[in-house]
Amino acid sequence: MRISLVVPCYNEEAALPLFYAEVCRVAAEMEKSHGAAFEFIFVDDGSADGTLPAIRALRGQDARVRYISFSRNFGKEAALYAGLQAAKGDYVATLDADLQDPPSLLPQMLDALQNGGFDCAATRRVTRRGEPRLRSWCARKFYRVINKLSDTEIVDGARDYRLMRRRMVDAVLQMSEYNRFSKGIFSWVGFTTKWFDYENVGRVAGKTKWSFWGLVKYSVEGIVGFSTAPLIIAAWAGVLFCLAAFLGLLFVFVRALLFGDPTSGWPSLVCILLLCSGVQLFCIGIVGQYLARTYLEVKRRPIYIAKETEQDL
Ligand code: UDP
Ligand code: MG
Repeated sequence: MRISLVVPCYNEEAALPLFYAEVCRVAAEMEKSHGAAFEFIFVDDGSADGTLPAIRALRGQDARVRYISFSRNFGKEAALYAGLQAAKGDYVATLDADLQDPPSLLPQMLDALQNGGFDCAATRRVTRRGEPRLRSWCARKFYRVINKLSDTEIVDGARDYRLMRRRMVDAVLQMSEYNRFSKGIFSWVGFTTKWFDYENVGRVAGKTKWSFWGLVKYSVEGIVGFSTAPLIIAAWAGVLFCLAAFLGLLFVFVRALLFGDPTSGWPSLVCILLLCSGVQLFCIGIVGQYLARTYLEVKRRPIYIAKETEQDL
């Protein structure tokens, strides 16, 4: 039985040695307890620091290490996809290089698959301690909104840290879309999932790659990728505004019949015009988001471009 660990790395020079040490410890334990053989797949997502040389060095000393290095930064979602494609194990786990996804949970997760009959063991953090307040608040709101809008359940606090059976990995790989939102993809493919809760832990070294603006873009990605409800909302907004216009017209007409038609009220007219054109632009913007995704999707560009793998050494 072989387990593949897929590890996306973007400028993780500082965290890598610590990660490797921890993962080796857990692997040795599991080799004894579960008879598991491991492969570690590091995906270097176009790092600008010494990540790639560090991975090459690890490969030199440990044949279980494999790697893919991208020609530039393609993002974590692309890195996960590349890693899953390369993985040969019967079980595949995806986890971050910064030890925020504790490898020590792996034995429990494997037990759930082997003895519990689950296809996937996933993790979610129950606290968002150590995170800026505003960010936690926005994150919670985001999960509420997306779960209202989308049929695919997006679990609040779910991490990308999971252990999957081969059949689930193959299902995920079949979803070869360009705009990837892993939290949605993992949920969309179905299969039975056991959830493991754990307390949020800070990074061991280095800095987070997420800016607030990056998270906003990521949430739009999720909503547009897994729901078409905003389009329907836009259409309904149109219907509502037509109704309001009709009622207003009726009111003006009756008033003119009863009291004549004195010319006044252009400030209110300007406000109404501004409001209506604002709503129009907003709705066009929503349509534009979907159009843009469609445009990127039909171009069928590769999800990532590999520059080097362990075979080139
Ligand atoms: N990562 C990546 N490409 C990117 C950004 C991040 O491969 O463009 C990796 C990063 O090296 C780490 C994981 O994705 O292993 C999670 O990143 P980070 O710790 O910055 O996110 P957070 O844990 O704060 O959500
Ligand atoms: Mg992290």
